[in-house]
Amino acid sequence: MMQGEHISQEDLALYAMQALSPEEALAVRTHLAECALCRAELAELSGDLALVALSVEQHPMPEGARQRFLNRVSADSAATTQQAVELLAAQEAPRRATRTTAIWLPWAAVAALVIAVVSLNMKIASLKEQLSEQSSTALKLEAESSHAQQVLEVLTAPKAQRATLTASKVPAVPTGRAVYLADRGALVLQASNLEHLPEGKTYELWVVPANGASPIPAGLFRPDATGSASLVLPPLPKGIPAKAFAITIERAEGSSVPTAPIILSGAATGV
Ligand SMILES: [Zn+2]
Repeated sequence: MMQGEHISQEDLALYAMQALSPEEALAVRTHLAECALCRAELAELSGDLALVALSVEQHPMPEGARQRFLNRVSADSAATTQQAVELLAAQEAPRRATRTTAIWLPWAAVAALVIAVVSLNMKIASLKEQLSEQSSTALKLEAESSHAQQVLEVLTAPKAQRATLTASKVPAVPTGRAVYLADRGALVLQASNLEHLPEGKTYELWVVPANGASPIPAGLFRPDATGSASLVLPPLPKGIPAKAFAITIERAEGSSVPTAPIILSGAATGV
């Protein structure tokens, strides 16, 4: 039991627990009385218990008690170790599996979410871009349309005041002003000081093509009480530049060819 000159830690512990045989305990006690080192060791091992162990007269354990105690410690230790091993194994196995699954699944879910969010954001951005393009186009169209609408409303409003400006002292004569965009086949005519027409008669506008083809009928109109009339965007073929415009008087249902005389005519500019 003696380790060299001093008492082994195991024996010191057993001594502190009063688990040594009387002979062993006596030897330890004798040594401790002389050895400060082992006392310090014992004090460290069992703290206050060491003081108790030193001060209290040790009595031998009842017959067999020490062995039972040692056996139980040994058995307990073994059982405890075995239990611990089993417990750890039992917990470790599912924990490992659980950890693998528990860690993998959230990451998979997170990855899927991230991908979904990213692709959604891209989709949203793309949609927003499209929407922005469309709405800006729509705004532009709306603005253009609104402007065109205002122009048309002013040109065609029955309440609009009209004047044909001429040199002084010249009596008001019938006049017409045509604006024509050949590319679009778009035409606006404004006429003033037109004579009233009898029932069953109408004014008819003609586009005289620059290429020498027959005059194209461009719409029927009758003047209001003041002699004013407008013809706005009549249906016309596109891409036919005009050499001139002319107005004739036709039957109410209109004509496909102009009937003389020509009431008003004018050469087109820019051809
Ligand atoms: Zn010693």
